[in-house]
Formats: sequence, structure tokens, C-alpha cells
Amino acid sequence: MSEEAVTHEHNTIIKLKDVSREFHIGKNVVVALKDIDFEVKARDFIILFGPSGCGKSTLLNTILGLDEPTTGTVAVRDTKIYSLSDDERAKYRVKKIGMVYQMSNWIKSLNVVENVAFPLIAQGIGQKEAIARAHKELKEIGIQRLAHQAPTQLSGGEQQKAGIARALVSNPHIIIADEPTGNLDSTSSDEIMSLFISLNLQKKKTILMVTHNQSYWDVGTERVEMKDGMIIKRTPHQSLI
Ligand code: ADP
Ligand code: MG
Repeated sequence: MSEEAVTHEHNTIIKLKDVSREFHIGKNVVVALKDIDFEVKARDFIILFGPSGCGKSTLLNTILGLDEPTTGTVAVRDTKIYSLSDDERAKYRVKKIGMVYQMSNWIKSLNVVENVAFPLIAQGIGQKEAIARAHKELKEIGIQRLAHQAPTQLSGGEQQKAGIARALVSNPHIIIADEPTGNLDSTSSDEIMSLFISLNLQKKKTILMVTHNQSYWDVGTERVEMKDGMIIKRTPHQSLI
């Protein structure tokens, strides 16, 4: 069997090999990631946790193509993303990965549906089609009624839903979420988590999520614990919730 066929059989979508990331600040060296070997398979829903400063966001940024590791390789599907040109890598990021942060960065002069359409417009898709697709995404998420509001006027939970719609508008296979419920009350957090669970189960999205909320550590297909720039424990589980 060819190597490609083997990869396909195991359905590996993200693969980090010997990844280290050092930050040099003056004479000091901070080792944010240490020799990370990590694989994510298609349709995994991975919950990543660990103390502040242990390297979680740096790990996500290396996968997003935003932060080149000091050593090692990051492959998405079979593409080594740091071998791509900056332009190709930017395209990869927009098309293949949807990113959700703790707080969404909104273009304040645009309304909700225009913000959700923005990644498509940035890819060169025409205004009319982009807006139509954004409306469809808002409808799927259940917040179509908010389409013409200013994003900053929405509640925290509604903004996160709009942020998820924006992440999904390019129809990426992978969703990366860095503490997406970090700013929300528990009811809104539960709603956002339910949304991610259905994206994983119904829409077959592969999800990598950082959360400090212990009540979500059993959600998804696997829990991954980090400490001091290393992955120290991986706990797969069968059941969801
Ligand atoms: P976490 O997301 O787990 O809280 P981070 O990945 O943000 O941790 O940070 C890991 C370590 O790398 C920390 O010590 C942090 O200070 C350092 N670090 C992260 N980004 C930078 C940067 N751009 N410049 C310098 N140090 C950084
Ligand atoms: Mg972080």
C-alpha cells in the first residue's frame, strides 16, 4: 500500500511532528512548545486544556499557519503548511480552517451578515453570493433575525454564534476554537458547546477546542492535557457529553 493510502486509511487530517517553538525575548528563551507529536483525525472533537502559559494558543497558532515552529513540521492533510508561500498559506487558512476566539473581532462599520460574509469577500467571491451564503449560515446557526444588527450590540452568546457563523461560512472541515466560552455565562456557554457538538456530529466537522471549563472536559472524542509546552496526557472517550 502506498504511503498516501495509509494516511488516508487512518484519516489523519492534522499531523505535528517534533514541533518545538521558542520565543527569544532579549537574552531569555521561552520554550512554548517542546517536541510535540500530535495527530488529529477527521471528525475528532478534541478538548485541549492545561494551565495558563502552557502553550495551548501557540499550538493552535502553529496549526493555523500563523506561527512557524522553531523545529518540526506541521502537515494538514498531506500539505506541509510552512513549505507553502505566505499567500498560499493565507488561502489555506481561510478555506480549510474556521477560527473562533474568546472574543470576536468585528469590523464595526459592517452589520452582522456583512461581517459573516467578509471572509468570502476577502477570497474574491462576489458581494451578492457572499451575503446570500452568510444569511444561510446565520439561519443554520439560528440567528438570522440578527443579520442587520451591529455585532457589538449583540449579547456575548449571540456574538459567539455570529463568530461561529463567520468561521463556518467558507465551509471548512476544521474548526479551531480558543476558549470560545471563556467570556460567557453558563447558560450561553452550554448553548455554544451544544452547537459545537452538533457541528461535530451532524456536520462532521473536526474540532480542536481549548477550554478551561472542567464541565466540558468529557465532551467530544478526546481530552488532551498540556503542561510546560508538552502534551502530557491523552484520554480518548467514546460517549459524547
Ligand atoms: P496558553 O495559551 O496555554 O496560555 P501560550 O501558548 O499563549 O499559552 O503561551 C505559551 C508560552 O509562550 C508563554 O510562556 C507565553 O508567555 C509565551 N509566548 C506566547 N506567545 C509569545 C510571543 N508572541 N512572544 C513571546 N512569548 C510568547
Ligand atoms: Mg491561550
